Amino acid sequence: MKALIMGGGMSGLATAVNLIDLGLEVELVEADEIFGGRASSWLDEDGDQIENALHVFLSYYINLMDFFKKLGVYDRLSWTKPELLMCQDDGDHAFMRYADLPAPLHMLAASLNVMKNYRGVPKWHILFSGISLAAILGKSPEEMDELDGLSWAEWVYRRGPKGAFDFLNGGLRGLTFTEPYALSAKVFGNWMRKVAAGYEYTRYAYANGGLGEIWVGNCLEYIRSRGGICECKKAVTNIRIENDRIVEVTINGTEKRTADIYISAMQAYPLRTLLPASSYALPYFQDLCYFHNAPSLSIQIWLDKQVTDRKEIHTAAPCTWNCMTDLSLVSPQIFKGGSMLECVIAPADDIQLMPDDIIFEKSLADIRRILPEARSATVKKYKIVRERQGVYRAFPGMEKHRPNQRSPYGNFYLTGDWTRTPVSSGGMEAAVWTANRCTEIIAQDKLNKTITLNKEFKIEGGFISFLRYIKPMAMAALAVACAKVFKKMM
Ligand SMILES: Cc1cc2nc3c(=O)[nH]c(=O)nc-3n(C[C@H](O)[C@H](O)[C@H](O)COP(=O)(O)OP(=O)(O)OC[C@H]3O[C@@H](n4cnc5c(N)ncnc54)[C@H](O)[C@@H]3O)c2cc1C
Repeated sequence: MKALIMGGGMSGLATAVNLIDLGLEVELVEADEIFGGRASSWLDEDGDQIENALHVFLSYYINLMDFFKKLGVYDRLSWTKPELLMCQDDGDHAFMRYADLPAPLHMLAASLNVMKNYRGVPKWHILFSGISLAAILGKSPEEMDELDGLSWAEWVYRRGPKGAFDFLNGGLRGLTFTEPYALSAKVFGNWMRKVAAGYEYTRYAYANGGLGEIWVGNCLEYIRSRGGICECKKAVTNIRIENDRIVEVTINGTEKRTADIYISAMQAYPLRTLLPASSYALPYFQDLCYFHNAPSLSIQIWLDKQVTDRKEIHTAAPCTWNCMTDLSLVSPQIFKGGSMLECVIAPADDIQLMPDDIIFEKSLADIRRILPEARSATVKKYKIVRERQGVYRAFPGMEKHRPNQRSPYGNFYLTGDWTRTPVSSGGMEAAVWTANRCTEIIAQDKLNKTITLNKEFKIEGGFISFLRYIKPMAMAALAVACAKVFKKMM
């Protein structure tokens, strides 16, 4: 049985690996000149490594970790201390430093740590926000689904004093590329729940080396050494449907390809331009029209001296960029002779329209405002990456529009970080989870086999289950108090 996979990002390549393991004949076509999609890297004209974007591997990416172990690249991840830096002017940072305590006490310790030095809001506001966030932990999956109807801004407005949650905004923008007013409360709540599930899930890693180098090469080798075909510079330009099945796809305008099953591992935007008008009679494909890009830019700045000694992620709001890491501390063998700051600029809705030199000046001004050491450093070079950017914008109400991996067409399946998954609104774990789910469904539909590839992330342990009862207990206490007052009045 032959499968044609359209798109060679992490999800397409992970699907190819899975299908090869199932014994299928696999062909993968990628439009770009490199594989890896958004999680890729390359060398520029000077031989310097360019990352498509700063990528952080969170320890609760349990399915991605298994994928990396299978490829033999898990030990290329470089783990940091479980803490985030919240940048403030003149290097006077606050720290979200998690403690090795049962959940959610590790979070409480982190809030207390932020309180020590965060200047944005009064200290009691932060404590207040910590208590409110604990309520998210106790929610059932159904209650979390209901949160998708609210924006994060609406949720915080109801839950805390003004500005109490602002210290999370740098991280929020970095994770979702979206402002709080446009972001589903479920989506950000979901991220919070994972980190709050246990101290062990607060750790994170970077790729020690170029992303393209550490996983893409091994992945291609895995597929090709088992007979699979992966070709780049092969863009799907048309998908022909007859009798509710794909009968043929066109590559680069002229070349025709056929297979027994077809898998789209493209984002929603190219896919919806390739489908014929008749597909949009089906609600399943109408859902593709709801997807909007939440734009981002990546900027790398090489400085002639070391401007920070901290490998942990620097988050900042308000700032041109929202996240930054000095990759010379992560991969000193690659970035020698000073700092190499890799920053993510998102949401980039407005700034993406500005010329590179303006974006650079604004980013550097913020770096110098925040890191005093950078004020005397000279910029050796900078690079702005505009290609392969963005994630889909997780507006309130978007979850229901994420398509299932099984399409209504009998031989057509979807994968990609934007397709339906409980894990998150995007990101590498979603890319791998959806690849695994797509394979499980194909095994069931076409091989009559039941296989389980995905592991489920469970939020339990510590005092987490206890949190579920906080609301009923508070209601009961309120009822008793009211009864007592009422009795006295009588
Ligand atoms: C700035 C930035 C920072 C990020 N940081 C993180 C992070 O820290 N942690 C994290 O988990 N995730 C992060 N992500 C998200 C992560 O990169 C993605 O979730 C993941 O790479 C998605 O993989 P994918 O295969 O689903 O999609 P993609 O990587 O987008 O792959 C889709 C592929 O389809 C190809 N394609 C499109 N059209 C066609 C066509 N017509 N024919 C053939 N091929 C086609 C594209 O070229 C592309 O290679 C970040 C993303 C960005 C942009």
